[in-house]
Amino acid sequence: MVFKGIDFETYLKQYPSRDGYFGKYGGAYISDELKKAMEEITEAYFTIAKSSKFVGELRRIRREFQGRPTPISYLERLSTSIGNVQLYVKREDLNHTGAHKLNHCMGEALLAKYMGKKKVIAETGAGQHGVALATAAAYFGLECDIYMGAVDIKKQAPNVARMKILGANVIEVTEGLQTLKEAVDAAFEAYAQDYKNCIYCIGSVVGPHPFPLMVRDFQHVVGEEAREQFIGMTGELPDAIVACVGGGSNAAGFFSGFLNDPVDIYGIEPLGRGPKLGDHAASLQYGEEGVMHGFNSVMLKDENGDPAPVYSVSSGLDYPSSGPEHAFLRDLGRVQYDVIDDEETIDAFYKLSRMEGIIPALESAHAVAYGIKLAQRMGRGSVLINLSGRGDKDMDYVIEKYGIR
Ligand SMILES: *Cc1c(COP(=O)(O)O)cnc(C)c1O
Repeated sequence: MVFKGIDFETYLKQYPSRDGYFGKYGGAYISDELKKAMEEITEAYFTIAKSSKFVGELRRIRREFQGRPTPISYLERLSTSIGNVQLYVKREDLNHTGAHKLNHCMGEALLAKYMGKKKVIAETGAGQHGVALATAAAYFGLECDIYMGAVDIKKQAPNVARMKILGANVIEVTEGLQTLKEAVDAAFEAYAQDYKNCIYCIGSVVGPHPFPLMVRDFQHVVGEEAREQFIGMTGELPDAIVACVGGGSNAAGFFSGFLNDPVDIYGIEPLGRGPKLGDHAASLQYGEEGVMHGFNSVMLKDENGDPAPVYSVSSGLDYPSSGPEHAFLRDLGRVQYDVIDDEETIDAFYKLSRMEGIIPALESAHAVAYGIKLAQRMGRGSVLINLSGRGDKDMDYVIEKYGIR
C-alpha cells in the first residue's frame, strides 16, 4: 500500500533511516562517548540480532518462557451491549509478567548476552520496566542495575520488592524531583562510564537510535501474531485497531503488523484531568517538536522549553514525549492519535472487568475506552484493541480513589 508517497510494503525495512530518522524525528542527540556505545549496539543489532541463531533462540524463549503466542479474545457481551460492532482484544496481559514490556526486554537482554555483556542497566518510573528487565536478567544470568527516583521507590513498593526478589539492584536516585527524569539521567551517566561491560535497555520506543528501531522490532511479534490470528478467527482483517501510547512501544509493535493493510489505526494518549498543561500526558496531541533524552520528537514543554510535568491516572503513560515513529506516522496521517481522560478510563476498566472477566491495566483501559467509543461511532464492523497489560497492579489505587462501581 502506498500512502502519501510512502510504500508500506517495504516501510519496516526503510524506516528508520541508517542514522535513525523517521522523517525529521529520531536521531541520536548524545555525547560522543555515548555515541560510541550506541554505534556498538547498532552494529550488534544488525548482525547478531538478525542471525538465524539469535532469531531461533528468541522464538523458542517466547514460546517456552513467555507463553507466546498470546491469544485474541472476542468480547461477546461488550460487543452485544454496543450493537453491531465486534470488539476483540489481543491479550498481552497474558504474556509472562503481565504486560507487553517483556517482549523487548527479552530481546534486549538476549542481545546483551550475545554481545558478551555482564550487566543490563535501566531506569524505571512506576517499576513496570524494571520488573520486566529484572525478569529477563534473571533468566539470562545477567547483573541488573535499575535506577529509580526515591519518590517512586516509596510509591511503588510491590514492584521494588519484585525487582529485589528477582535479584536486581535497585539504585535510589535522590537528585531533583527524585522521579523518572532524574532516574533516566542517572542511568545514562552510569552507562556512559561502563558501556564496555553493560548495555542500556530502554523501556519503550524512545531514546537515541537504535532503540526506537530495536524496541519496535522486538514488539513486532504482537502485530504479526495478531494479524494472523484475527484472519484465522474471522476470515478477514479488522476494520480498525487501537492501542494506548505512552512512549509508544506496545502501539508501535501492534501497528507494525497492519501498516500495509486497509485498516484504520488509532493511537490513544492520556488526557488525564483535562487539556491544561500539567493535567495530561498527550504529547502527540498538544506537544511541539523538541529534543529530550537523546532523540527528536514531539514534546510537552514548560515555559523554559524543558520537559513539562505530566499527569494521568496510569503512570505507565506519563511521559512528556512519544517515540519518533509515532510523530512521523501522525504527520503522515497513517495513524490517527486521539485522547481519553481519567473518567472514561475508569469506566472502561470496570466495563471490561464486569462484562468480560478481564481486569485491564489502566494504561490499556485507555485503548479499551476508545475502542468502545469508536464502535459506537462506526455502527458496524470490527475493532481489535491491544490489551497491553493486566490490572492487578492498579486495583488498590482504583478502589481507594474511585471506589467500587
Ligand atoms: C508501560 C506500559 C504501557 C506504556 O508503554 P508503551 O511504551 O507506550 O507501550 C502501556 N501498557 C502497559 C500495561 C504498560 O506497562
